[in-house]
Amino acid sequence: MAYEPTDEELVHLNRCVELAAEGLAANDEPFGSVLVDASGKVLFEDRNRVAGGDQTRHPEFEIARWAAANMAPEERAAATVYTSGEHCPMCSAAHGWVGLGRIVYIMSSRQLAELRAGLGVPPGPVNAIPIQDVVPGVPVDGPVAALEAAMRDLHTRACA
Ligand code: ZN
Repeated sequence: MAYEPTDEELVHLNRCVELAAEGLAANDEPFGSVLVDASGKVLFEDRNRVAGGDQTRHPEFEIARWAAANMAPEERAAATVYTSGEHCPMCSAAHGWVGLGRIVYIMSSRQLAELRAGLGVPPGPVNAIPIQDVVPGVPVDGPVAALEAAMRDLHTRACA
């Protein structure tokens, strides 16, 4: 089921697309994420930084570490992570371990896996397990149909 974001949520999701595009422009992978507190304020944002050879440098993982270092547990639980692509199992686990709250993603891991397979990209070493199968207590919304085309375009260019 696709999720219909509010106008305010769309602002954050559009920023995720921008960050993903920044990643691609920097010869990295097109993924971007934004951490927003309960009042709607952006606290932290990042994009994929795996081009240097460390495949764990996902923005959702950086957000979890930033939240653990800078937020009280109750603030983490009330925060929302917006992201261009559904968390991988590593990032889902990190999100769960630090007690972050809701996740809103544009493309699901399954959609991305299907897109990449269609482009002839071999599967990665980690299974595309849905967030809720890793951290069942986290509220999750997505995919977001309105921004899917933009992300498909970035991923298609990344695999070219
Ligand atoms: Zn990840």
